[in-house]
Amino acid sequence: MECHRLTCQACGSRRMNTVLLRDADEKLVVICADCHEFVARWLLSSHGYYHEGKSFDSYLRSLERAGEAPTGRNLQAHFERLQKEARSDFKLALKQLQAEGKDF
Ligand SMILES: [Zn+2]
Repeated sequence: MECHRLTCQACGSRRMNTVLLRDADEKLVVICADCHEFVARWLLSSHGYYHEGKSFDSYLRSLERAGEAPTGRNLQAHFERLQKEARSDFKLALKQLQAEGKDF
């Protein structure tokens, strides 16, 4: 596992603002919070988005907005797996940063 913190190539800052762009795809655009330069962009995989504190209904709406009609009775189970994985990834990232002596 690799764990990288983003660094602005323009000013060296690690303070970032993250923007979710939604059209046919969902993309994350990261902007430097200090100099406002573009830092990075990710294309999110389908069904991969998870937002802590948002409900299953919110998850369903995000699928609908992405043009994916929520079907299948396993969707609630998928959401619960996604939630578990996302929380686990968050903890793993914190642990990895700590192990590498990196603040965030
Ligand atoms: Zn910057």
